[in-house]
Amino acid sequence: MGDLVSVSGLVKHYDSRRGLLGRITGNHGARVQAVNGVDLGIARGSTTGLIGESGCGKSTLGRAILRLHEPTAGTVRFDDTDVTGLDAEAMRDMRRRMQIIFQDPYASLNPRRTVGEIMSKPLRLHGLARGGEIRDRTVEILERVGLNAGHLNRYPHQFSGGQRQRIGIARALIMKPEFVVCDEPVSALDVSIQAQIIELLEELKREFGLTYLFISHDISVIGYVSDRIAVMYLGRIVEEGQTAEVLNAPAHPYTQALLASVPQVENAGKRAASVKLKGDLPSPTNPPTGCSFHTRCPAATGRCSVDAPGAVDLGKGHRAACHLLTGAS
Ligand code: SF4
Repeated sequence: MGDLVSVSGLVKHYDSRRGLLGRITGNHGARVQAVNGVDLGIARGSTTGLIGESGCGKSTLGRAILRLHEPTAGTVRFDDTDVTGLDAEAMRDMRRRMQIIFQDPYASLNPRRTVGEIMSKPLRLHGLARGGEIRDRTVEILERVGLNAGHLNRYPHQFSGGQRQRIGIARALIMKPEFVVCDEPVSALDVSIQAQIIELLEELKREFGLTYLFISHDISVIGYVSDRIAVMYLGRIVEEGQTAEVLNAPAHPYTQALLASVPQVENAGKRAASVKLKGDLPSPTNPPTGCSFHTRCPAATGRCSVDAPGAVDLGKGHRAACHLLTGAS
Protein backbone atom coordinates (compact mmCIF):
# COMPACT_ATOMS: atom_id res chain seq x y z
CA MET A 1 0.00 0.00 0.00
CA GLY A 2 1.61 3.27 -1.14
CA ASP A 3 1.63 6.52 0.75
CA LEU A 4 -1.20 8.94 0.00
CA VAL A 5 0.55 11.68 1.98
CA SER A 6 4.30 12.04 2.17
CA VAL A 7 5.86 14.71 4.37
CA SER A 8 9.53 15.56 4.03
CA GLY A 9 11.61 17.91 6.18
CA LEU A 10 8.54 19.90 7.20
CA VAL A 11 9.27 22.97 9.32
CA LYS A 12 6.85 25.49 10.80
CA HIS A 13 8.24 28.40 12.80
CA TYR A 14 6.30 31.54 13.66
CA ASP A 15 6.58 34.69 15.75
CA SER A 16 4.86 34.41 19.11
CA ARG A 17 3.40 37.93 18.86
CA ARG A 18 1.69 38.05 15.52
CA GLY A 19 -1.21 40.14 14.36
CA LEU A 20 -2.01 43.81 14.70
CA LEU A 21 -0.16 44.43 17.96
CA GLY A 22 3.03 42.94 16.58
CA ARG A 23 2.73 45.04 13.42
CA ILE A 24 2.03 48.26 15.33
CA THR A 25 4.81 47.82 17.87
CA GLY A 26 7.26 46.12 15.53
CA ASN A 27 7.78 43.61 18.34
CA HIS A 28 7.26 40.15 16.86
CA GLY A 29 8.20 38.36 20.08
CA ALA A 30 10.08 35.09 20.21
CA ARG A 31 10.38 32.60 17.37
CA VAL A 32 8.26 29.51 18.09
CA GLN A 33 9.81 26.36 16.59
CA ALA A 34 6.53 24.41 16.46
CA VAL A 35 7.53 21.83 13.81
CA ASN A 36 11.21 21.13 13.32
CA GLY A 37 11.92 18.87 10.37
CA VAL A 38 9.27 16.16 10.23
CA ASP A 39 9.38 13.22 7.81
CA LEU A 40 6.19 11.15 7.75
CA GLY A 41 4.47 8.82 5.31
CA ILE A 42 0.74 8.11 5.63
CA ALA A 43 -0.38 5.01 3.73
CA ARG A 44 -3.54 5.16 1.65
CA GLY A 45 -6.55 3.80 3.55
CA SER A 46 -4.71 3.73 6.89
CA THR A 47 -4.91 5.66 10.15
CA THR A 48 -1.69 7.17 11.44
CA GLY A 49 -1.97 8.24 15.07
CA LEU A 50 0.04 11.29 16.10
CA ILE A 51 0.61 11.37 19.84
CA GLY A 52 2.36 13.85 22.11
CA GLU A 53 1.79 16.26 24.98
CA SER A 54 -0.12 19.48 24.58
CA GLY A 55 2.20 22.05 22.95
CA CYS A 56 4.45 19.51 21.19
CA GLY A 57 3.45 20.79 17.74
CA LYS A 58 1.12 18.02 16.60
CA SER A 59 -1.85 20.27 15.72
CA THR A 60 0.49 22.68 13.93
CA LEU A 61 1.89 19.74 11.96
CA GLY A 62 -1.64 18.67 10.94
CA ARG A 63 -2.48 22.19 9.79
CA ALA A 64 0.85 22.63 7.99
CA ILE A 65 0.23 19.41 6.03
CA LEU A 66 -3.08 20.94 4.84
CA ARG A 67 -1.42 24.36 4.37
CA LEU A 68 -3.93 25.91 6.76
CA HIS A 69 -0.67 27.09 8.34
CA GLU A 70 1.85 27.85 5.61
CA PRO A 71 4.98 25.69 6.14
CA THR A 72 8.27 27.50 6.69
CA ALA A 73 10.21 24.80 4.82
CA GLY A 74 9.88 21.23 3.57
CA THR A 75 7.45 19.51 1.25
CA VAL A 76 4.09 17.73 1.44
CA ARG A 77 3.21 15.39 -1.40
CA PHE A 78 -0.40 14.29 -1.79
CA ASP A 79 -1.02 11.54 -4.31
CA ASP A 80 2.14 12.61 -6.20
CA THR A 81 1.31 16.32 -6.20
CA ASP A 82 3.66 18.68 -4.35
CA VAL A 83 1.04 20.51 -2.29
CA THR A 84 3.56 23.03 -0.99
CA GLY A 85 4.20 24.23 -4.56
CA LEU A 86 0.56 24.88 -5.52
CA ASP A 87 -0.76 28.38 -6.16
CA ALA A 88 -3.88 29.63 -4.34
CA GLU A 89 -6.37 28.41 -6.94
CA ALA A 90 -4.85 24.95 -7.31
CA MET A 91 -4.67 24.70 -3.52
CA ARG A 92 -8.36 25.53 -3.25
CA ASP A 93 -9.16 22.60 -5.55
CA MET A 94 -6.78 20.34 -3.63
CA ARG A 95 -8.45 21.25 -0.34
CA ARG A 96 -11.59 19.40 -1.44
CA ARG A 97 -9.54 16.24 -1.15
CA MET A 98 -7.91 17.10 2.21
CA GLN A 99 -10.18 18.06 5.07
CA ILE A 100 -9.97 18.57 8.83
CA ILE A 101 -12.17 17.78 11.82
CA PHE A 102 -11.45 20.14 14.70
CA GLN A 103 -11.22 19.47 18.43
CA ASP A 104 -13.79 22.07 19.42
CA PRO A 105 -16.72 21.83 17.02
CA TYR A 106 -18.49 24.75 18.68
CA ALA A 107 -15.60 27.14 18.03
CA SER A 108 -15.30 25.94 14.43
CA LEU A 109 -19.01 26.33 13.56
CA ASN A 110 -20.31 29.82 12.76
CA PRO A 111 -22.87 30.51 15.54
CA ARG A 112 -24.92 32.83 13.28
CA ARG A 113 -25.44 30.25 10.54
CA THR A 114 -27.88 27.34 10.51
CA VAL A 115 -26.59 23.82 9.99
CA GLY A 116 -28.02 23.91 6.46
CA GLU A 117 -26.07 27.08 5.66
CA ILE A 118 -22.87 25.76 7.25
CA MET A 119 -23.06 22.51 5.32
CA SER A 120 -23.99 23.99 1.95
CA LYS A 121 -21.27 26.67 1.95
CA PRO A 122 -18.39 24.41 0.81
CA LEU A 123 -20.61 22.82 -1.87
CA ARG A 124 -21.46 26.26 -3.28
CA LEU A 125 -17.91 27.56 -2.94
CA HIS A 126 -16.49 24.69 -4.96
CA GLY A 127 -19.45 24.48 -7.37
CA LEU A 128 -20.03 20.85 -6.42
CA ALA A 129 -23.82 21.00 -6.37
CA ARG A 130 -26.71 23.30 -7.28
CA GLY A 131 -30.32 23.94 -6.31
CA GLY A 132 -32.13 20.99 -4.76
CA GLU A 133 -29.03 18.84 -5.09
CA ILE A 134 -27.37 20.87 -2.33
CA ARG A 135 -30.16 20.05 0.12
CA ASP A 136 -30.20 16.38 -0.92
CA ARG A 137 -26.46 15.99 -0.38
CA THR A 138 -26.62 17.84 2.92
CA VAL A 139 -29.45 15.68 4.26
CA GLU A 140 -27.73 12.52 3.01
CA ILE A 141 -24.51 13.21 4.90
CA LEU A 142 -26.36 14.47 8.00
CA GLU A 143 -28.28 11.21 8.15
CA ARG A 144 -25.07 9.27 7.70
CA VAL A 145 -23.58 10.86 10.83
CA GLY A 146 -26.75 10.31 12.91
CA LEU A 147 -28.61 13.62 12.36
CA ASN A 148 -31.53 14.37 10.04
CA ALA A 149 -33.34 16.92 7.85
CA GLY A 150 -35.11 18.33 10.91
CA HIS A 151 -31.73 19.73 12.05
CA LEU A 152 -31.12 21.84 8.92
CA ASN A 153 -32.64 25.05 10.28
CA ARG A 154 -31.13 24.87 13.76
CA TYR A 155 -28.11 26.81 15.02
CA PRO A 156 -24.97 25.24 16.54
CA HIS A 157 -25.87 26.29 20.12
CA GLN A 158 -29.04 24.18 19.90
CA PHE A 159 -27.00 20.96 19.76
CA SER A 160 -25.11 18.91 22.35
CA GLY A 161 -21.30 18.60 22.14
CA GLY A 162 -21.55 15.17 20.54
CA GLN A 163 -24.07 16.39 17.96
CA ARG A 164 -21.88 19.40 17.15
CA GLN A 165 -18.96 17.08 16.48
CA ARG A 166 -21.22 15.05 14.17
CA ILE A 167 -21.93 18.30 12.28
CA GLY A 168 -18.17 18.98 12.09
CA ILE A 169 -17.61 15.48 10.68
CA ALA A 170 -20.45 15.91 8.17
CA ARG A 171 -19.05 19.28 7.06
CA ALA A 172 -15.66 17.67 6.39
CA LEU A 173 -17.11 14.67 4.56
CA ILE A 174 -19.62 16.50 2.38
CA MET A 175 -16.66 17.41 0.14
CA LYS A 176 -15.93 13.69 -0.38
CA PRO A 177 -12.29 14.02 0.69
CA GLU A 178 -9.71 11.26 0.55
CA PHE A 179 -7.59 12.43 3.49
CA VAL A 180 -8.85 13.81 6.80
CA VAL A 181 -6.84 15.29 9.66
CA CYS A 182 -8.77 14.44 12.83
CA ASP A 183 -7.38 17.00 15.30
CA GLU A 184 -8.22 15.79 18.81
CA PRO A 185 -11.79 15.05 17.61
CA VAL A 186 -12.96 13.52 20.91
CA SER A 187 -10.91 15.42 23.50
CA ALA A 188 -13.65 17.96 24.27
CA LEU A 189 -16.37 15.31 24.64
CA ASP A 190 -17.71 13.32 27.59
CA VAL A 191 -16.18 9.86 27.85
CA SER A 192 -19.51 8.19 27.02
CA ILE A 193 -19.76 10.19 23.78
CA GLN A 194 -16.09 9.68 22.82
CA ALA A 195 -16.64 5.99 22.02
CA GLN A 196 -19.63 6.79 19.76
CA ILE A 197 -17.68 9.39 17.77
CA ILE A 198 -14.64 7.10 17.43
CA GLU A 199 -16.90 4.30 16.20
CA LEU A 200 -18.56 6.68 13.71
CA LEU A 201 -15.15 7.79 12.38
CA GLU A 202 -14.13 4.13 11.98
CA GLU A 203 -17.32 3.31 10.05
CA LEU A 204 -16.93 6.33 7.77
CA LYS A 205 -13.31 5.44 7.09
CA ARG A 206 -14.32 1.95 5.91
CA GLU A 207 -17.33 3.19 3.93
CA PHE A 208 -15.59 6.04 2.10
CA GLY A 209 -12.08 4.55 1.92
CA LEU A 210 -10.63 7.44 3.91
CA THR A 211 -7.09 7.97 5.12
CA TYR A 212 -6.72 9.58 8.55
CA LEU A 213 -4.06 11.47 10.43
CA PHE A 214 -5.54 11.12 13.92
CA ILE A 215 -4.08 13.56 16.44
CA SER A 216 -4.51 13.01 20.18
CA HIS A 217 -2.70 13.43 23.50
CA ASP A 218 -4.42 10.23 24.70
CA ILE A 219 -2.36 7.09 24.03
CA SER A 220 -5.39 4.86 24.75
CA VAL A 221 -7.37 6.51 21.94
CA ILE A 222 -4.37 6.48 19.60
CA GLY A 223 -3.69 2.80 20.36
CA TYR A 224 -7.29 1.92 19.53
CA VAL A 225 -7.70 3.75 16.22
CA SER A 226 -4.23 3.62 14.64
CA ASP A 227 -2.50 1.30 12.18
CA ARG A 228 0.74 3.19 12.78
CA ILE A 229 1.78 5.52 15.57
CA ALA A 230 4.08 8.54 15.35
CA VAL A 231 5.28 9.99 18.65
CA MET A 232 6.03 13.72 18.63
CA TYR A 233 8.18 15.67 21.07
CA LEU A 234 8.98 19.37 20.72
CA GLY A 235 8.37 19.56 16.99
CA ARG A 236 10.03 16.27 16.00
CA ILE A 237 8.91 12.68 15.47
CA VAL A 238 10.96 10.69 18.01
CA GLU A 239 9.45 7.26 17.33
CA GLU A 240 7.28 5.77 14.62
CA GLY A 241 6.06 2.28 13.81
CA GLN A 242 3.19 -0.14 13.54
CA THR A 243 0.83 0.22 16.49
CA ALA A 244 1.60 -3.19 18.02
CA GLU A 245 5.37 -2.59 17.71
CA VAL A 246 5.25 0.81 19.39
CA LEU A 247 2.89 -0.30 22.17
CA ASN A 248 4.57 -3.64 22.89
CA ALA A 249 8.18 -2.60 22.41
CA PRO A 250 8.48 1.18 22.83
CA ALA A 251 12.07 2.08 22.01
CA HIS A 252 12.28 5.78 22.89
CA PRO A 253 12.33 6.79 26.59
CA TYR A 254 9.63 9.39 25.87
CA THR A 255 7.28 6.78 24.39
CA GLN A 256 8.01 4.53 27.36
CA ALA A 257 7.09 7.37 29.70
CA LEU A 258 3.83 8.07 27.84
CA LEU A 259 2.88 4.40 28.15
CA ALA A 260 3.86 4.28 31.83
CA SER A 261 1.37 7.05 32.50
CA VAL A 262 -1.55 4.87 31.31
CA PRO A 263 -1.12 1.38 32.79
CA GLN A 264 -4.48 0.33 31.36
CA VAL A 265 -3.09 0.29 27.82
CA GLU A 266 -3.28 -3.37 26.98
CA ASN A 267 0.08 -5.07 26.43
CA ALA A 268 2.01 -1.87 27.08
CA GLY A 269 5.70 -2.71 26.90
CA LYS A 270 7.29 -4.07 30.06
CA ARG A 271 9.99 -1.44 29.86
CA ALA A 272 7.39 1.28 30.09
CA ALA A 273 6.82 0.72 33.80
CA SER A 274 10.33 1.88 34.67
CA VAL A 275 10.12 5.36 33.11
CA LYS A 276 8.19 8.21 34.68
CA LEU A 277 7.73 11.51 32.89
CA LYS A 278 8.87 14.43 35.07
CA GLY A 279 8.60 18.17 34.62
CA ASP A 280 6.92 20.19 31.89
CA LEU A 281 7.50 20.31 28.17
CA PRO A 282 10.28 22.91 27.53
CA SER A 283 9.29 26.00 25.57
CA PRO A 284 9.35 25.58 21.78
CA THR A 285 10.78 29.13 21.61
CA ASN A 286 14.00 27.83 23.14
CA PRO A 287 14.21 24.04 22.76
CA PRO A 288 17.06 22.22 24.53
CA THR A 289 20.24 21.55 22.56
CA GLY A 290 21.18 18.02 21.44
CA CYS A 291 18.33 15.61 22.10
CA SER A 292 15.43 17.89 23.00
CA PHE A 293 14.18 15.29 25.53
CA HIS A 294 17.45 15.32 27.54
CA THR A 295 16.15 17.72 30.22
CA ARG A 296 13.50 15.15 31.23
CA CYS A 297 15.07 11.86 30.21
CA PRO A 298 16.10 9.51 33.07
CA ALA A 299 18.59 7.78 30.76
CA ALA A 300 20.34 10.93 29.46
CA THR A 301 24.14 10.97 29.25
CA GLY A 302 26.56 13.83 28.63
CA ARG A 303 26.37 13.29 24.89
CA CYS A 304 22.60 13.79 24.85
CA SER A 305 22.79 17.54 25.60
CA VAL A 306 25.23 18.06 22.73
CA ASP A 307 24.35 15.67 19.88
CA ALA A 308 20.89 15.35 18.39
CA PRO A 309 20.23 11.63 17.73
CA GLY A 310 19.24 10.50 14.26
CA ALA A 311 16.48 7.98 13.58
CA VAL A 312 17.55 4.35 14.05
CA ASP A 313 15.84 1.66 11.96
CA LEU A 314 14.60 -1.11 14.27
CA GLY A 315 13.05 -3.23 11.50
CA LYS A 316 9.46 -3.66 10.24
CA GLY A 317 9.20 0.09 9.67
CA HIS A 318 9.84 0.83 13.36
CA ARG A 319 12.18 3.81 13.93
CA ALA A 320 13.24 5.82 16.95
CA ALA A 321 15.73 8.63 17.57
CA CYS A 322 17.79 7.90 20.69
CA HIS A 323 21.54 7.43 21.25
CA LEU A 324 20.84 4.37 23.42
CA LEU A 325 19.68 2.49 20.33
CA THR A 326 23.04 2.90 18.58
CA GLY A 327 24.90 1.38 21.56
CA ALA A 328 27.26 4.35 21.52
CA SER A 329 25.79 6.72 24.09
FE1 SF4 B 1 17.27 10.16 26.47
FE2 SF4 B 1 19.65 10.62 25.36
FE3 SF4 B 1 17.94 8.94 24.21
FE4 SF4 B 1 17.48 11.57 24.19
S1 SF4 B 1 19.18 10.51 23.16
S2 SF4 B 1 16.00 9.97 24.62
S3 SF4 B 1 18.24 12.15 26.21
S4 SF4 B 1 18.94 8.69 26.20
